[in-house]
Amino acid sequence: MALASVIGMSGVGAQESAPVTVSRVGTIPSTAGPAQNFTGAVRVDSRFQTPAPARVGGGIVTFEPGARTAWHAHPLGQTLIVTAGSGRVQKWGQPLQEIRSGDVVWIPPNVKHWHGAAPTTAMSHVAIAEALDGKTTDWMEQVNNEQYGK
Ligand code: MN
Repeated sequence: MALASVIGMSGVGAQESAPVTVSRVGTIPSTAGPAQNFTGAVRVDSRFQTPAPARVGGGIVTFEPGARTAWHAHPLGQTLIVTAGSGRVQKWGQPLQEIRSGDVVWIPPNVKHWHGAAPTTAMSHVAIAEALDGKTTDWMEQVNNEQYGK
C-alpha cells in the first residue's frame, strides 16, 4: 500500500492551503486569573483558541497553594490534564477529589464545579474546552474557605 494512502494524503480538504501555525512561547504574555473568577494567585500561559469551524480552546493554568477557580460550568464540558503538583476538583454536592500530576479529568457539560491547588501545594493543568455560541464557561460564585476545606 502506498504511504500516501496510509496517512491520508489523498484526502484533500477545502482548507488544504491553510498553514500549520506555531505560537511561540513568550509571544503571548502570561495573564493573571481575574479576581472575579478566581481566589488566590492563578496564572494562565499558552492560551489558545482555534478558528472556526474548530471551537476548542484552552491554556495551561497554574494555581499557587490555596488558589482555585470560582464555581462554574462549561456548556460543552472540559478536559483537565494535570501536569504538575496536586490539587482538587469538586462537583457541586459531591465530595472533593484529589488530583495529581498525570491525572486526566473530564467535567461533563453544564456540571457546576471548581478546580484548584491543594492548600500547601501548587498545581498546574492544561484546560481544554469547546465553545458553544462563542462561550466556554458560565462563571458563578466564589468557592469559600469552608467549601475549599481549608
Ligand atoms: Mn472548569
